[in-house]
Formats: sequence, C-alpha cells, structure tokens
Amino acid sequence: MSSDHAAKTISIREMNKYYGNFHALKGLSLEVEAGEFLVLLGPSGCGKSTALRMIAGLESISSGELLIGDQDVTEVLPKYRDIAMVFQSYALYPHKTVAENIGFPLKMAKVPQAEMDEAVRAAAAQVELDGLLDRLPGQLSGGQRQRVALARAIIRRPAVFLMDEPLSNLDAKLRGNMRAELKHMQNELGITTIYVTHDQIEAMTLAHRVAIMKDGELQQLGTPKEVYSNPANLFVAGFMGSPPMNFVEGEISSGQFRAAGMSLPVTGFADNAAVTIGFRPEDCQVVEAGTGQVDASVYTFEMTGDQSLVTFEYEDRHLVVKMPKDFEIASESRAAIAFDPAEANFFDTASGRRLL
Ligand code: ATP
Repeated sequence: MSSDHAAKTISIREMNKYYGNFHALKGLSLEVEAGEFLVLLGPSGCGKSTALRMIAGLESISSGELLIGDQDVTEVLPKYRDIAMVFQSYALYPHKTVAENIGFPLKMAKVPQAEMDEAVRAAAAQVELDGLLDRLPGQLSGGQRQRVALARAIIRRPAVFLMDEPLSNLDAKLRGNMRAELKHMQNELGITTIYVTHDQIEAMTLAHRVAIMKDGELQQLGTPKEVYSNPANLFVAGFMGSPPMNFVEGEISSGQFRAAGMSLPVTGFADNAAVTIGFRPEDCQVVEAGTGQVDASVYTFEMTGDQSLVTFEYEDRHLVVKMPKDFEIASESRAAIAFDPAEANFFDTASGRRLL
C-alpha cells in the first residue's frame, strides 16, 4: 500500500464482466494517462459502476487485463492496488471527529502520531476544512462531509483515485461549487482519476477525456470538445448537450437531403441513403417563415434567464432552438428554423454511425 507519489497510468485491456449469462461489460479497452482525469459517462445500467468496481478490485474481472502503472493487478487484492475510492455515500465514521476520519487510513497503516497529525492538517487545508477538525460528521453540511471523504482519499497520496458519482447527493448549487473544487484539487495533485457519472455537465467540465458508454459498450472516447462537436453516433450526439441535439430523419435524392418540408443540398452521399441530420439548439436560429431550412409552428417559448428556448412542433417531434435572452415569440406562431447545413451532423439512420 505504499505509494511512490508518482501518478500512474491505467491500462484496461479487453475487460469483460459477466453476471451469470448477463454480459454487463463488453470488452472495455482504455489507456488512461498518468495524471489524467477520465470520466466514465453513461445512462443508468450502462456498466460504468461495474467497470469502476472492477478497477478497484471490488468485482472480479471475468476476462481481460488491468494494469496500474506497469503492474498487472488483474488478480491483485484491492488493498494492494494503491487506489483510493470516493463514493456517493461518504461512508464516514459517525462517532469519529473530522480529524480522525481523515487520518483513519494512516492510523491503519500505523503511521506515527505526529506525522499523521501533520498529514491530516495538510489534507484538511487542501479541501478547506481547516476550522472543522474537531466536529463530528453529524455537525457538518453535505458538502463538508463530502470534503472529509475527499481528504481521507487524498491523505494516502494514492496512485489512482476512483470516484463513483461523488457529488450526486449534493444540491445543485453545492454540486457546482464542489465540481470546481474537485477539478482544482485534481489539477494540483495530478493524481490519475477515473470518475463515474451520468451527468454530462460534470463530464464536460471535469474531464480531460470522456468515455461514453451504453449497454456495457464503449461508444466514444475523446476530449469533451471532441465528443460534443464530433459525436461518433446518434447515441452520443443525443446524450451530450442540454437541450439535446435536434434530429430529423430523411433520405438522399439527387444531391439533396429530403425530409418533410426540408430540402438541403449535400455532397458525399449515395442516392436513396436513409440519413438523419442533427443540429444543436445553439447552432440554429428562429427566422421568418419561408426564410430558413424548415418551417414549423412554435409549441412553447421559455425564458430561462440567460437565454430563450423556442420549441417547435415538426412532424411527430420537437425541435429546439436557443435564442438570446431578449428574444420573444408567441406560442403557435409560424416561423422557420435556420441553420448552416455545412455545420450539421449526418448519421446513418440504420446503424446510427456518423457519416459527416
Ligand atoms: P447506475 O448509474 O444506475 O449505477 P451503471 O451504469 O453504474 O448504472 P452498473 O451498476 O455498472 O450500471 O450495472 C450494469 C448492469 O449490470 C446493470 O444492468 C445491472 O443491473 C447489472 N448488474 C450490476 N451488478 C450486478 C450483479 N451483482 N448481478 C447481476 N447483475 C448486475
């Protein structure tokens, strides 16, 4: 359990998990760089917690290989993997003070008292808990408790942090603050981190790279900007972004993308191909009927404070446009959505794969 304080790589190679006949993790391969903040992102049940627990050693690996640094830890017990884990529930000892909770891993390791006191002070300062060391967990706010859990994780200076939705018990405002603190702390410490969440905002803001999963399978690995701007398939495109990307299914004919009331010149597609066009709410505008790419009627108009959201009814679906905060339009009015087809995303409707 000793640490050489140097950040380590994590190599996940063709890792599989079966629960009986159920294939929960399907051949996951990832190379996490030393000091990287990697986020595993996906909807409930996609296998992200399973993957994290396998890396921690809390679940066995059905097949595949796991290396931390250059050590193969596939069969190594959790306590010898040089990791620290932070969970959604902080799992603090209620009858121990903040200082005792933070110092617990060092006490277990039989670190001398004076050295432990110093390490507790340093870890508490890192997460700004300085004045609270004598309190019990019951006398702390949710955010403060989460910081105790973080301090307890950092005190050992592990080679790797594994975090499973550590902010999801906090209210929205605190979550935002803690997100910024966590990012700052990870930057300062430079400890390789794998962080599990279903919250795409957390993923976008925290990650150096995001691994997006669905049904036990990796869908795309890339920087937040890459997965946002160049989603590999319809699933990723629809998962990243709030409100999500607009999709319209159509067909290619004579160099045009055609859908109900929509005809756009496109190049590079085979005739008759079934194609879905995708454009983000912030990449289009509301314009006068007849002057955009598609006419539709306004379903709802919402002011969110910093922007206006216009939802159109188009065929059997809604299309959303983000407009500046001073924009207004009445429900049920007829208008058009304008966007630049060259900036749009195109997907193969059948496979979901990105085409352009
Ligand atoms: P959530 O965000 O809801 O925690 P997740 O993406 O973390 O979801 P996992 O907890 O990794 O999902 O679960 C992946 C799949 O494996 C789910 O379908 C789940 O039901 C199944 N699963 C998890 N643990 C077990 C188990 N011990 N036995 C059988 N199936 C399991």
